[in-house]
Amino acid sequence: MLRIGLTGGIGAGKSTVGRVLRGLGAVLVDADVLAREVVSRGTPGLRAVVDRFGTAVLSAGGELDRPALGRLVFADDAARRDLNAIVHPLVAARREELVASAPADAVVVEDVPLLVETGGASRFPLVVVVHADAGERVRRLVEDRGMSEEDARARIAAQADDADRLAAADVVLDNPRRSATAPDPLPAVVERLWRERLVPFERNVRSGRPAPVPVTAPVVHDPAWEGQAARLAARVARAAGDRGREVEHVGLTAVPAVPAEDVLELQLAVVTEEDVSAVVGPLAAIGFPRVSVEPDGSAVHGSADPGRPARLHVRVRGGAGWRRELLLRDWWRAGPGSASAGAVRGVLGDVEAAEAWARRVGWSPAAA
Ligand code: ADP
Repeated sequence: MLRIGLTGGIGAGKSTVGRVLRGLGAVLVDADVLAREVVSRGTPGLRAVVDRFGTAVLSAGGELDRPALGRLVFADDAARRDLNAIVHPLVAARREELVASAPADAVVVEDVPLLVETGGASRFPLVVVVHADAGERVRRLVEDRGMSEEDARARIAAQADDADRLAAADVVLDNPRRSATAPDPLPAVVERLWRERLVPFERNVRSGRPAPVPVTAPVVHDPAWEGQAARLAARVARAAGDRGREVEHVGLTAVPAVPAEDVLELQLAVVTEEDVSAVVGPLAAIGFPRVSVEPDGSAVHGSADPGRPARLHVRVRGGAGWRRELLLRDWWRAGPGSASAGAVRGVLGDVEAAEAWARRVGWSPAAA
């Protein structure tokens, strides 16, 4: 099973993409649907809402009167917090139920409108963001959903801005206004994502195998590497939990201006040797199955995502291997090592030169 987080600003096209993915075979879990379901007529959820907000939030038929509730909570932070405290745990529990009942080989797509706002992106091995610019989203909300323009703009302003949302995206699906004459390109883009990335990613996660890393020549430094590494690091840190300490972007892709193979390298520091094994399961579940154990007791994990080759070193914090990884990166970054950075990394000469530099500048990994 592979869980995908699907998000985007209101009106961007999440539901549209979700439907396409469901048509391709994904199990779709829609947060909006869940949020309605847990307060539908006769549920304990609805009872709790009425207990807190009174029968004024009920329609004549005993259903939740959403507009009435919306007016109550819109301008009242405490009321909104109370509502969220009722609804969110119920949604979360129902979500876990649905995910648990999905087939073992399912690609589960979770449509979560506020994924970025709630800090939940790193729970998912992959985050897909559907993007359309704010002006077009306002047009859709006004023309297709009958909102007033003011209301549409207020809702957009209450969400994360595009920059924050795009920073959380492993995949961005651009969904500009469909042309009246040309065919809509989105379904074919989604189909390709499904076939080339999601299906093999799921298979790799299920079988505990990393995606094959294509043999590549070094390429020009890509400024996007840093953001990609930050997303992977956030997942790894969350999966490692208390066992983990810093997760750092290391290796040549972490060195600006230096060519590197397009394989990100990360280092997870753990506290004890035992932690190296204890994090194997959680890391595999987030898309980083273990590949090998090194003679020094550290472990190498690989990315199961065919769309983002990456290697993760799990090393005990304070150990020689952990320190050397950070030293080489910082020496390369500082400049004097850059010339040799393209050569085989970690060779003895490199390390000696880096150690000399470290003594000269007073480098220590604590300050790294
Ligand atoms: P979300 O779930 O992100 O709020 P929806 O998928 O419901 O967004 O899309 C919002 C509205 O915009 C819907 O009425 C949908 O039919 C319409 N829509 C989606 N994609 C496009 C597009 N590319 N061009 C024009 N309208 C679109």
